Amino acid sequence: MSETGAAIVSGSEVRSGGCLCGKVRFTVIGPVDDPHICACKDCAKRSGAPFQWWLGFPISGLEWTGAEPTWFDTHPGKTARGFCPDCGSHIAALDYDHEGDSVIGILATALDRHDTDPALIPTNLNRLPKAAPWLAQGS
Ligand SMILES: [Zn+2]
Ligand SMILES: [Zn+2]
Repeated sequence: MSETGAAIVSGSEVRSGGCLCGKVRFTVIGPVDDPHICACKDCAKRSGAPFQWWLGFPISGLEWTGAEPTWFDTHPGKTARGFCPDCGSHIAALDYDHEGDSVIGILATALDRHDTDPALIPTNLNRLPKAAPWLAQGS
């Protein structure tokens, strides 16, 4: 494990994460794809927060090392979001039709280390001002 929280195995970045109670656990092998903030109404309603911090990872590099999340269809037949059935932590998002799109969405906050990893810094904050206009005013 490096100082950034990503271990390097065979040239790939490996990160671990899970839910608050520890029932759901996973590892993902990088690289990180499109780290971004989403403030859509689905993210806000489900999380109880004005926005969520998403990261894409190759789905082939994902392994559930604890229980798999419970999946809720935000758009039936199209998109599901995964959460812990015991503690309610938000973990992941998955498109059912992902044959050409082999990426799974993982919430940065589900990772064990998300605070010091520069690869996770969101590159798209477009929706943030609308979601939380008061946020930038304090700085
Ligand atoms: Zn849990
Ligand atoms: Zn969203």
